Amino acid sequence: MWSYQHQHFNVHQIPALNDNYIYLIEAKNSDILAVVDPADASVVNQACARLGKSLTHILNTHHHWDHTDGNKALKQRWNCTVIGAADDAKRIPCIDIQVSENVFPKLDGLNIQILDVSGHTLGHIAYVMDNALFCGDALFGAGCGRLFEGSPEQMWQSLQKLGALPDNTQVYCAHEYTLPNLRFARDIDSNNKELESRIHRDTQTRMKKQPTIPSSIALEKATNPFLRPLNDTFIHTYATAKHIEENALDVFTHLRTSKDRW
Ligand SMILES: [Zn+2]
Repeated sequence: MWSYQHQHFNVHQIPALNDNYIYLIEAKNSDILAVVDPADASVVNQACARLGKSLTHILNTHHHWDHTDGNKALKQRWNCTVIGAADDAKRIPCIDIQVSENVFPKLDGLNIQILDVSGHTLGHIAYVMDNALFCGDALFGAGCGRLFEGSPEQMWQSLQKLGALPDNTQVYCAHEYTLPNLRFARDIDSNNKELESRIHRDTQTRMKKQPTIPSSIALEKATNPFLRPLNDTFIHTYATAKHIEENALDVFTHLRTSKDRW
């Protein structure tokens, strides 16, 4: 378990399954202890015991089993409140409170903003608190979720919302996929110096069995292939090389398709 300080809460990062991360959000000024995307109830229970606290909430980003499998057992154990997307309420186990973009769930001591970041699935949401982003499978370290349910247009809109967050926003995504993602990034963005230093740094980090997550919005904008279409120079270079239309959506769509085949 790794822990990070924010103004109103601490974040505890728990590795689970093969490459998932589960996050516990521990409010500093209340008894709120919320878990984001509990893939596995047992590791969450162990972490609660270690903190000596009761679980009060489950925050789900989307319905996939490796984000919701612990819902039922945790609800039974703690009688906690389950929050998920109104647009996906039928697929979120044990959901109590349905939220959507611009609805602000009141959890004592936390300021939570909901963003609709559909694309990987429909009804995929992200939770923003202070300078922390819990984005599930929408954005990864140097990657983004596959488009299982949404369209490229939808995903590109979602990623633009994430790219518009303040640079120092910490990106708490749900998987450790960074190194394989960076190999694709190097293929399509070979003259990017910030990318080179990230590859060096994150490779060292993984050799020490440490997480490369959280990253930051600034780092993702500079090195993540799926946020690079926010940069006009990148659009021009990529579109010219691939003989495609010189606009952000076409470049994003081409990148996503190329990664799926890579
Ligand atoms: Zn997923």
